[in-house]
Amino acid sequence: MYYGFDVGGTKIEFGAFNEKLERVATERVPTPGDDYQLLVETLASLVTKYDAEFGTEGKVGLGLPGMEDAEDETVLTVNIACAKGKPLRRDLETKIGREVKLENDANCFALSEAWDDELKDAPSVMGLILGTGFGGGLIYEGKVFSGRNHVAGELGHMRLPIDAWFHLGEKAPLLDCGCGKKGCLDNYLSGRGFELLYANYYGEKKKAIDIIKASEAGDADATEFVDMFMELLAICFANIFTGNDPHVVTLGGGLSNYDLIYEEMPKRIPKYLMSVAKCPKIVKAKHGDSGGVRGAAFLNIK
Ligand SMILES: [Zn+2]
Repeated sequence: MYYGFDVGGTKIEFGAFNEKLERVATERVPTPGDDYQLLVETLASLVTKYDAEFGTEGKVGLGLPGMEDAEDETVLTVNIACAKGKPLRRDLETKIGREVKLENDANCFALSEAWDDELKDAPSVMGLILGTGFGGGLIYEGKVFSGRNHVAGELGHMRLPIDAWFHLGEKAPLLDCGCGKKGCLDNYLSGRGFELLYANYYGEKKKAIDIIKASEAGDADATEFVDMFMELLAICFANIFTGNDPHVVTLGGGLSNYDLIYEEMPKRIPKYLMSVAKCPKIVKAKHGDSGGVRGAAFLNIK
């Protein structure tokens, strides 16, 4: 049995999966955001409860918005205040008497998709999230690759490629990022970036969905903007793919529901790749909101 926890700022989702990777239990509880001991106890009590229910010791994986410091194994997160700087994985291991795996929630999203029936035979799967922010995860042979410092999938904090900067033109905005740098992809390719860029060029604040609808209705500004954004995505994706050469790419997050992306990327990306490279298959994520908890549980597969 595989147990996954998707620990968010306001709620914890628990899921249990059997050996066929079918979900057999789900539970949601509020995150005790300001009480660390209670957080550890809440996680441990769910493990104990479902161990008793299934008559087994489930393998435990944790996904959260953040990562573990590679040196001292404390959690780096801004969303779960009480877990910040605490060795959450170690403390939970001590409490429940077994190994616990911990990963960034974007890596869990990518892992969940990589274990989908249609993708599980792909040697490498890249997950990209076009949500409020832009991030990703890299899966090789069914396992998360998180690198020396656990930042391997942090594609949102790669800076804009030079051809993207030229593409954005004279009015290109150099946007500050929450990580302290300027020009990170996170602020351009996300749903938030889509809206920020539209406001930058057309002087009007509009929701992404309204810009998309206006473009579909033939509005000239929105149509021109969508064309510009699709080319920006293609440039940035091609740069990312050149560094990683994934076999399959799966897109999640709100903006990933924009079907035009799947039509346009295969047409626009090849000219930015090396001439020997083919554009990977780009598909929409299948497991959406349950990706975090599925991926956390699947950290223990293999
Ligand atoms: Zn950044």
